[in-house]
Amino acid sequence: MVIDAHLHCTGRETSDDVLRSLDEAQIDVGVLLAPFLGDGYSLDDAASLRRANAHLSALVRGHRDRLVGFAVVDPRSPEAAHDLRHAVETLGLRGVKMVPTGWYPYDAQVQPVFAMAAELRLPVLFHSGIFIDGRSGRFCRPAFFEVMRDHPGTRVALAHLGWPWTDEAIAVGLIDRIHGVPPERAQFRFDISFGPPPPYRREVLQRALEVLGAGALQFGSDCFLPCPGHEIATRRRWVQELLDELALDEAARAQIWSGTAAAWLGPALEPRPGPTAARSPSSPSRAAGHAAGWLGGSRPMAPLCC
Ligand SMILES: [Zn+2]
Repeated sequence: MVIDAHLHCTGRETSDDVLRSLDEAQIDVGVLLAPFLGDGYSLDDAASLRRANAHLSALVRGHRDRLVGFAVVDPRSPEAAHDLRHAVETLGLRGVKMVPTGWYPYDAQVQPVFAMAAELRLPVLFHSGIFIDGRSGRFCRPAFFEVMRDHPGTRVALAHLGWPWTDEAIAVGLIDRIHGVPPERAQFRFDISFGPPPPYRREVLQRALEVLGAGALQFGSDCFLPCPGHEIATRRRWVQELLDELALDEAARAQIWSGTAAAWLGPALEPRPGPTAARSPSSPSRAAGHAAGWLGGSRPMAPLCC
């Protein structure tokens, strides 16, 4: 099974467009983010995000086995926690994406949304790292997301491995591992949508694999729909080529293509027919080599620092 854990809607796509592209790229499940960039949608306009979530709700309706809709909210809005509950309980969306721009994740005013995500047991995706469109990335450093530890029950994915702050992202991810939390139950995992420009990619992925293991890493194309399937397939091939270069074993590859995201999505991922759907959630910590990371599974490490 392959899960694309990071796909953008623009508001211009239809369900048929999306399913056709996923089929062409041989993607089983797509995590679709409500539109928030252009086409009348803006992160600074909570009303436009409500329209965006409604659009996504209609898009994924009837396709819950293939399409997982993630709401987008502006956590600075006083209505954001309510909007998130509405998006999940009424619109049928199953996770939330947030983009820190103009607010820091540790700001007091945004904590109610995180608390709502915890109450609803949602998978959460954050942009982390630099922006490529010229906005300041200063709000998105990986360590700022440590505040999510104040909201146990959230399952957090940081996008782009936090590039250029990949060491910082890996350090954030390492804390659970140091305390013996297996990857599938850890609070943080990372999508490897790029992120790092090509000269960095192999080094960054190798370092993350060596330290965190494949159970902390998940594939995301970061494509903008509607797009031809070959665009998604191309980004899939970039990852495939890196995994080949790094000679990853099958267990580690399965984690990156679907296992990590399946644990992140948890109940948001509907069971799919066929033998590949039946992955044991405990398999990551038993996997060998790159699947397990530096600490070799769930073995706790003696404290290195105070
Ligand atoms: Zn993105």
